[in-house]
Amino acid sequence: MSNEEYKSCPYCGEDVKTIAIKCKHCQSFLVEESENSESVKELLETQKKALEFEKEKEIKRQEEKEAKETEKAKSSGCLILTIVIAGIIFWLLGGTIHCGP
Ligand SMILES: [Zn+2]
Repeated sequence: MSNEEYKSCPYCGEDVKTIAIKCKHCQSFLVEESENSESVKELLETQKKALEFEKEKEIKRQEEKEAKETEKAKSSGCLILTIVIAGIIFWLLGGTIHCGP
């Protein structure tokens, strides 16, 4: 087999086929010297984008969660405030009625 030439992997130093796009020893992509570098780059780019998209999704999810929690805290704070105000109004009204002439 003349086309099965070997080169050493730049990452781990093990012998890998020159046509290999991925080292079988350390799983590194051998993009620069590969004939298929364009498609591999594309593949890597797609993987990267997918990863970034996943990350963004995760961040968005977390932000939404935090926003929801803030909203919850806000609404419960509002509820307490409403109760306090209602209590003060009730107390004031009650006081006015009782303090009448
Ligand atoms: Zn390697």
